[in-house]
Amino acid sequence: MVSRVIPVDPFDLVIFGGTGDLARRKILPALFRRYLSGQIPQDARIVGVARGDLGRGGFQGMVREAVCDFGQGAADKAALEAFLNAVHYVQIDATGLRGWSDLAEILQGDRVHAFYFSVAPSLFGPLAERIHTHGLAGPNVRIVVEKPFGHDLASARALNATLAEHFDESQIYRIDHYLGKETVQNLMAVRFGNMLFEPLWNSQYVDHIQITVAETVGVGGRGSYYERAGAMRDMMQNHLMQLLCLIAMEPPAKFDPDAVRDEKLKVIRALDPVKPHHIVRGQYEAVTGQESEFPGYREAVGNPRSSTESYVALKAHISNWRWAGTPFYLRTGKRLVARSSVINVMFKETPHSIFGEEAGRHTNVLSIRLQPNEGITLHVTIKEPGPGGMRLLDVPLDMSFAEALGPDGRHPADAYERLIMDVIRGNQTLFMRGDEVEAAWGWTDPVIAGWKARGEVPKPYASGSTGPGDADQLMRRDGRGWRGINP
Ligand code: NAD
Repeated sequence: MVSRVIPVDPFDLVIFGGTGDLARRKILPALFRRYLSGQIPQDARIVGVARGDLGRGGFQGMVREAVCDFGQGAADKAALEAFLNAVHYVQIDATGLRGWSDLAEILQGDRVHAFYFSVAPSLFGPLAERIHTHGLAGPNVRIVVEKPFGHDLASARALNATLAEHFDESQIYRIDHYLGKETVQNLMAVRFGNMLFEPLWNSQYVDHIQITVAETVGVGGRGSYYERAGAMRDMMQNHLMQLLCLIAMEPPAKFDPDAVRDEKLKVIRALDPVKPHHIVRGQYEAVTGQESEFPGYREAVGNPRSSTESYVALKAHISNWRWAGTPFYLRTGKRLVARSSVINVMFKETPHSIFGEEAGRHTNVLSIRLQPNEGITLHVTIKEPGPGGMRLLDVPLDMSFAEALGPDGRHPADAYERLIMDVIRGNQTLFMRGDEVEAAWGWTDPVIAGWKARGEVPKPYASGSTGPGDADQLMRRDGRGWRGINP
């Protein structure tokens, strides 16, 4: 299966924070891959901006290294040199006033100017303001804003208001890279491109839905940020909420940005407040005997009394006609047994077994795997082959995307590649709208406030486990169980 590449029009992309971790690991390699594929035209320009006095040559050297380490730069030296010709650098301190005229000189007036804010959130406001005051905020401008978008509802509102002073909502691209994943879009294709699933996609046929985003990594070097955030703000409010919306939303009338985002917003607004006993917080502990290699959460962040959660599991209810009575169980955590992001749609048991009680009652499961091994699997019940009588067997019907993968086992475009190209094309479907982000904080804030008010401390769990036992209990109380966390 060969995907068709449609080149975008020439553009200028300015990366504020061009020397940072995200730029080096994700943004620059993604741009190079799109350049290699022929989607980015030769005369596009990529302008790195940071505080350091790197000069153009210094930045090009850094881009070369990043693209070789994290992209395919080493494989095609000639293409890499051509790509580097498109790379520029401007020294600007986002809180200062110098350097902006240098940037204005590089930008060409007649094309899309995308400003990627890959800097600390405290700089989003100052950058928006300075882009405006230096006359760079024309109608052909788009700004790309990284997570976290606010810390709570009040700060998200304030940030939306600041951005709205200088840009129209149609110019603001709030990135959630989960939405750029191939499987997420395939989920919409499976739901709305087939007759098969949609009639069953409701509380009459779906028993419950599980969404798991499990990581094996700990907080690493992000300790001071994470201490103030925790899993609820860092993962649940954005990534898991977005997945919940895509699973639960009504079919939009058409696949256009506002139609899709209107439907997602309705889901968030229909969410009931989470009951305190429907939520479990956890914090990982060190692996005994290997403390130095795998420190526990508190050692990692240097706070022996930390009450920040590195794990959260909860049961959510959507009060609308389609989903009343079908719980959504969501969990995410660090230092878990495997890295795995998966949505499991658990259908109800067959109402009666015509094959007798010993054949058992069976359920169908639709598993949507986001990482690793992106793909969709439908678990169906068939007869066990052979002459042994009518014994039933559950088998996976695999709609994996293996044949669509390139020789290096990756999709033709990963999330950042797709999302950056969408910015250039002006397609906001896979980006969060301001009101969606606010509604998500509006649901999350009372949960966090409740923990604080009750002085709740997260439950410890062993690194390398599936999380705290209370999360299993959350399911067991309802006569259900989590599916395994498998790599
Ligand atoms: P980083 O600290 O590695 O890089 C920050 C960049 O901003 C550097 O280039 C630095 O020179 C520049 N910078 C700092 N202060 C500046 C100023 N006053 N003026 C101009 N430039 C300045 O951070 P990062 O990990 O690359 O993250 C950038 C943003 O992306 C953050 O908002 C972060 O939350 C978000 N993010 C990062 C990741 C990731 O994997 N790194 C993932 C998701 C979101």
